[in-house]
Amino acid sequence: DDHVPDDHPRHDSLVTRHRIEDGVERGITSKQGLIAEGRGEAFDYLLGEETIPSADDAERVAAALLLRARHPVLSVNGNVAALVPDDIVDLAAATGADIEVNLFGRTEERMRAIADYLEEHGAEDVKGLTGDGRIPGLSHDRGTVDADGIGDADVVLVPLEDGDRAEALGEMGKTEIVVDLNPLSRSAQVAAVPIIDNIIRAVPNITRHARDLADADDAELAAVIEGFDREAALDAAEARIREGATRREDD
Ligand code: ATP
Ligand code: MG
Repeated sequence: DDHVPDDHPRHDSLVTRHRIEDGVERGITSKQGLIAEGRGEAFDYLLGEETIPSADDAERVAAALLLRARHPVLSVNGNVAALVPDDIVDLAAATGADIEVNLFGRTEERMRAIADYLEEHGAEDVKGLTGDGRIPGLSHDRGTVDADGIGDADVVLVPLEDGDRAEALGEMGKTEIVVDLNPLSRSAQVAAVPIIDNIIRAVPNITRHARDLADADDAELAAVIEGFDREAALDAAEARIREGATRREDD
């Protein structure tokens, strides 16, 4: 989309930039979000801009956790809304999860703009605007959630979450699935399931796994989850990035 030729060697990266720019113009993505995007791109470049096998495994585990949850919630910020609005709606449908807008810098205007944008893309009952729940240990601005959304969730998918909040959510006893391209980021380090992948690839791939696991019984889902080793997933991504740096030097 966005007039980037399909055969351009860096097609996906250019489409991603256009979507983020468009998000800023729509009042969905913040200027901080632009910086976060640049940081992510650097890691993705080293990863080879593909879903590595350990990330695919983590994405399957994420699908099993969301399917097995009592109350799964997908947390959406300005970058996620701009990059993968349709994919978030699909994932919510495939797993029965709620969608909640949750911003690092909460403004009513941006919350509303994101909720409206998701609804234009088919989301129903987008949560986050009520803001009657709290994450203990964070300032009011950053700790505000919906009591019947993230406040009540047992499993939360938090793509591109800030490290502090990721940690505080974990301390509330929630099982956290974090999508972040940087395996050294604090959010990835504290996640129960760190997914080191670009959200533009991760979210649709979690949905694919969820559809594949739709008929699995509880024992099968539990077995998928049990086999997961978070340290090994982080190490595999880090090794891949180091290898990527060497590979690029050799080019
Ligand atoms: P730390 O977690 O180490 O405290 P931070 O969270 O403050 O760092 P930011 O720049 O705010 O750092 O976070 C942005 C994070 O989002 C980076 O780790 C970046 O790799 C990641 N990121 C950016 N774009 C994407 C994307 N499209 N998919 C996945 N992760 C992304
Ligand atoms: Mg981080």
